[in-house]
Amino acid sequence: MNSIIKFSLLFLAILFVACNNKQPETAGEKNTENVFPKGDIITSNNFTGTAWLQMLVNNDSTYNTSIGNVTFEPRARTNWHKHPAGQILLITDGRGYYQEKGKPAQLLQKGDIVRIPPDAEHWHGAAPECSLTHIAISPNTDKGSVIWLEPVSDEEYNNIKVAGLDP
Ligand code: MN
Repeated sequence: MNSIIKFSLLFLAILFVACNNKQPETAGEKNTENVFPKGDIITSNNFTGTAWLQMLVNNDSTYNTSIGNVTFEPRARTNWHKHPAGQILLITDGRGYYQEKGKPAQLLQKGDIVRIPPDAEHWHGAAPECSLTHIAISPNTDKGSVIWLEPVSDEEYNNIKVAGLDP
């Protein structure tokens, strides 16, 4: 192997390792993997487990849209809830679930996009062994943003049926 090829391979190996840094823990740290900061722990009781939020776009009368970066630790999830004007989730890291009431859960992975219909009762959150990071876009907030309902119980969470994986 000539030295240019050796150097190129070393460079690629270093680049690969550098691109696989874990997500920073605090809002101020530089974030190489997920682009946006992890933000702060969500203290609301509309969540089970530990989740983090960094608001990216605050709602205003020009855009009527709020956008937040949300990270769920393993097993963390939202309560059941609905959005009067729907919601779009862009999955940027990890693995988790989206479930509409009465339907099997949908497995979420990096690169997935979820279009949540207006008023559909649902929850989203992390898988048992993995964290999940998504960008949540809530449009048309002049119609209302979120109506919170009951928690997703451990029994419900432990008995998730994933679409396409169960008989
Ligand atoms: Mn939602």
